[in-house]
Amino acid sequence: MSDTTTLQSAPTPRVNGVEQVRRLVTEVPGPRSRELHARRTAAVAAGVGSTLPVYVERAGGGVVVDVDGNSLVDLGSGIAVVNVGNANPRVVERVQQQVAAFTHTCFMVTPYAGYVEVCEALARLTPGDHAKKSALFNSGAEAVENAVKIARAATRRDAVVVFDHAYHGRTNLTMAMTAKSMPYKHGFGPFAGEVYRAPMSYPYREPAPISGAEAAARAIGVIEKQVGADAVACVVIEPVQGEGGFVVPADGFLPAIAAWCTANGVVFVADEIQTGFGRTGAMFACEHEGVVPDLITTAKGIAGGLPLAAVTGRAELMDAVHAGGLGGTYGGNPIACAAALGAIESLEDDDLPGRAARLGELMTERLHQIAGGNPQIGEVRGRGAMVAIEVVQPGTTEPDAAEAARISAACHAAGVVTLTCGTYGNVLRLLPPLVIGEDLLTEALDVLAEAVAG
Ligand code: PMP
Repeated sequence: MSDTTTLQSAPTPRVNGVEQVRRLVTEVPGPRSRELHARRTAAVAAGVGSTLPVYVERAGGGVVVDVDGNSLVDLGSGIAVVNVGNANPRVVERVQQQVAAFTHTCFMVTPYAGYVEVCEALARLTPGDHAKKSALFNSGAEAVENAVKIARAATRRDAVVVFDHAYHGRTNLTMAMTAKSMPYKHGFGPFAGEVYRAPMSYPYREPAPISGAEAAARAIGVIEKQVGADAVACVVIEPVQGEGGFVVPADGFLPAIAAWCTANGVVFVADEIQTGFGRTGAMFACEHEGVVPDLITTAKGIAGGLPLAAVTGRAELMDAVHAGGLGGTYGGNPIACAAALGAIESLEDDDLPGRAARLGELMTERLHQIAGGNPQIGEVRGRGAMVAIEVVQPGTTEPDAAEAARISAACHAAGVVTLTCGTYGNVLRLLPPLVIGEDLLTEALDVLAEAVAG
């Protein structure tokens, strides 16, 4: 090997033709993005927001390339969707084959194997070894709505119990189930009835330390007094709350709620739409505490970016609905099913849940280091590659949404895509694709450290 060769640095890897680097060639957003944004403002309804108005041209691995040629590190994964990476090769290949074969027949008219294969995979991958069945839909909200329909049909009860800080979607029923008014519910009522809210376990915000079991007893007390156990069709809960602020309940909370459901003939529904498919370091977040849900709702990470969602659960519950009671024109579209089979193959073959655990350790360690010198970080928390910082007024637990927004905007300006969340809007969350390179992630965390320091 000549000297000149050894002096050259190793070429940066490429994924889907995208160099795995952070590189800004214009300000962010650049002139082409700004031009598109002006057109968008005239043509797209104002109610549809965008975190970062850079318009995307290509994406792969941990990088999003915009129309101005800027390469941004992706710490959002399109809100926990492209866990297997954008345009994952196995997803692309299967989608290309499927789209050329047929695009749609409607599973309710003339079915196809892909739908069945996705349901078989869900039965195998979701927690519990009981007999399971699934039904496929298009979006997370639709899956949640259908889980409620199934639970009501199976129990012949009406009431639905959800939790403080919950997010379950934007349709009429799921708006009622979602906790936060602005922007999700404000002005959009009246909402569906028979939805009741119980107190969550949110360790950072408890007035005094309380165990998971105690927090569960508090929630159960509210349900029994305000609803009555025998009126409850289902309890719907995110094992780690997503939009609500990456709230990880105290150990023991979920198992105690699940056990109460079993004892009272209530269907326990785990909404794993954000936590599912490897994100938390296990295939599903319920596994961390050995909780086996009666029904589980999935979407987002299931299909590597194509719209697909599912309700999976105990066969006898799933079959409680009369023929024709579940479905929809596009539910389980063949292209989305092909994408899901590619995504699932990648999750399993490449051990992406294991990778999520490793990336989570890397992020958590670094975030703790950053929090050490910056009193505006009240807490670092999360599971696997779903981690966040809660931003507060130093020396208090008073939420500081403006500071969280400032940190996030500074990351954007430096070429790192970050998202905020939380009931108080003060949580900055990190959701990198599980295939991101560790060097690139470390570089993005350097940017975050600088942003926090101001
Ligand atoms: N449930 C949870 C836990 C979610 O995170 C989301 C989306 N953020 C939804 C439901 C709704 O999913 P969709 O946006 O696909 O309707």
